[in-house]
Amino acid sequence: MAANVMEVYGSKVFNEHVMKERLPSATYKSLKDTLHKGAPLDIEVANVVASVMKRWAMELGATHYTHWFQPLTGITSEKHDGFVSPVGDGTAIMEFSGKELVRGEPDASSFPSGGLRATCEARGYTAWDPTSYAFVKDDVLCIPTAFVSYTGEALDKKTPLLRSMKALATQATRILKLFGKDVDYVSTTIGPEQEYFLVRKEDYEARQDLILTGRTLFGAPAAKGQELEEHYFGTIRPRVSAFMKELDETLWELGVPAKTKHNEVAPCQHELAPIFDTANVAIDHNLLTMEMMQKIAPKYGLVCLLHEKPFEGVNGSGKHNNWSMSTSKENLLDPGDTPMENLQFLVFLAAVIKAVDEYADLLRTAVATPGNDHRLGANEAPPAIISIFVGEELEAVIDAIASDSPYAGPVRMKMDLGVDVLPKFSKDTTDRNRTSPFAFTGNKFEFRMPGSHQNLSDADTILNTAVAKELKGYADELEKADNFTEAVIALVKRTIRDHRRVIFNGDGYSAEWEIEAERRGLPNKKYAPAALPALIAPKNIDLMEEFGVMTRTEMFSRYEVEMEHYAKIINIEALTMLEMARKQLLPAINAYMGEVARTASAKRAVSDKISVRAETTLLEHLSRDADTMSEAIDRLAAAERTAQAITDMTTKANAFHDSVLPAMNELRSVADDAETICGEEYWPLPSYSRMLYYVEN
Ligand code: ADP
Ligand code: MG
Repeated sequence: MAANVMEVYGSKVFNEHVMKERLPSATYKSLKDTLHKGAPLDIEVANVVASVMKRWAMELGATHYTHWFQPLTGITSEKHDGFVSPVGDGTAIMEFSGKELVRGEPDASSFPSGGLRATCEARGYTAWDPTSYAFVKDDVLCIPTAFVSYTGEALDKKTPLLRSMKALATQATRILKLFGKDVDYVSTTIGPEQEYFLVRKEDYEARQDLILTGRTLFGAPAAKGQELEEHYFGTIRPRVSAFMKELDETLWELGVPAKTKHNEVAPCQHELAPIFDTANVAIDHNLLTMEMMQKIAPKYGLVCLLHEKPFEGVNGSGKHNNWSMSTSKENLLDPGDTPMENLQFLVFLAAVIKAVDEYADLLRTAVATPGNDHRLGANEAPPAIISIFVGEELEAVIDAIASDSPYAGPVRMKMDLGVDVLPKFSKDTTDRNRTSPFAFTGNKFEFRMPGSHQNLSDADTILNTAVAKELKGYADELEKADNFTEAVIALVKRTIRDHRRVIFNGDGYSAEWEIEAERRGLPNKKYAPAALPALIAPKNIDLMEEFGVMTRTEMFSRYEVEMEHYAKIINIEALTMLEMARKQLLPAINAYMGEVARTASAKRAVSDKISVRAETTLLEHLSRDADTMSEAIDRLAAAERTAQAITDMTTKANAFHDSVLPAMNELRSVADDAETICGEEYWPLPSYSRMLYYVEN
């Protein structure tokens, strides 16, 4: 198969090539108008497309179809319906109508809606997103869809994203028009770099915490951590390599442009990066990538962990969201070769800087999950403070603009924007800072805060809308200007002066930055329940409502859903810890104490001249740990009960953070201490060294 990548690529996708080949030309033309210009699709066209799509899918072995959508859980949902339709004489035909293609009605009542459904109709429907191609997966024709209620509220992650893409397109098009460019559409492009861990299946199965929560809730550090940094880009283990090959091939069949794969910093950690694509397509593809990683790993005796922090003390996993805006001809974040192109670049750059500064709190909500709390600010991922890294060269340019002084960069030049050309920024100088949450990397921004397990829709919805807002303000102003060039220069200067505080090129991991950021007035919300209230801050609701991306009700529902999710996750973790501690760890310590005590008394029985000092010291230590553990168990159980009894979601999520998490940490700390002195064959959980440093046989 590997020899034939070109043939395999997209072979399970109803892409434009297939459409062109199989659809009658009039149908193809209307569908193309829908795809590229957002024209509505009439039912006649949908009927033809559905029938052709069905035949194509059946040739690939499909017997069912599903509307594939992304409820507020962030993961994908599917419900399979057969094409089969009995005709009454004991035989059946295979049917799939245009109506079934464009609209579905899953039973929505079990998906989280944050109270939305109490205020409106209980039912929701899924609507075809024709801009993301249908594909065949596991004998099922999958149709990417958006999921909305009958009264129009978004019940999913995709609907607001599509709305935000449109908002950004509209405003960016206005700006380009002022630069004399008449374009149909501006798309947002995303390249998500996906990090993940692979552990051996037998280790996974031996750990209740991994099975139930995706992360280890106990585990003393291995003698060797990642300090040698030998794993990054290191040789890939043979079975991991075999896994990666099958993953690539499966993704290529599905039209996912998987491009780069390598070992990451932490042992057993890896990364896959695709070639970037339009935002909604890239996100659909990322969700497929995560699904395939989890499905394929067990074939190689492995389990894929997408949790943000599977192992304490070892780097966690993120998902870098590379983001830009493009027309069919140019990347709007690419500095140009002429003064006018530079000016245009600076306008879009300024809009991003302003957007990120003004809506940092909202952007922070998009990465606020219980799993990601372990990463942000933990000296391995960006801090919880949002700042922008632009690189030295661009910062010098920006400073020159803001202070009206000559630019003294590597290429000496006067920063008179009407005349000069910006230097081309080499990737080297822009990409050095790995500690920044939002870095300019030459021709795109890389938002590094999202967690590995997240659906990137939230982050990109917010980013697109906030940038649309700033572009709208610019367009309103510039459309009225008498002298366009002067007005643009003034606007760029003003933006940079007003929002200079969000630009930071230093070490984002340092303690000094936290102090400096506070001085600059940048928000620093360290954990999810503290960050999420920004979802319902009036200024943020105004933003989303202004562009029709989300309503106030939708924002409130999302706030509820996320806070509830936080409480539920910590609750599951707490209960899992209690069960493991009571049923596995304390019994193990007791059994080992019994063994040590028997050894001591056996020695004593032979002669009281034989020392039992080692046994006594060990017993004292183990017994102390067992006592502390038992108290920690009681404290955690009480904290969990109290938090779980709270009904108000805000208070509840905060209680889980403020009192349950610390009790979990206490229990873990004493259990981990006991692990380091307990006999290996008594300890019921595979250790960190075994899980992370196994030798391949
Ligand atoms: P890194 O140095 O962080 O590993 P790469 O240069 O390999 O970054 O690119 C990371 C990701 O950025 C890739 O998925 C790539 O396709 C994506 N990317 C490149 N250009 C753009 C763009 N204009 N818009 C969005 N993503 C982009
Ligand atoms: Mg990156």
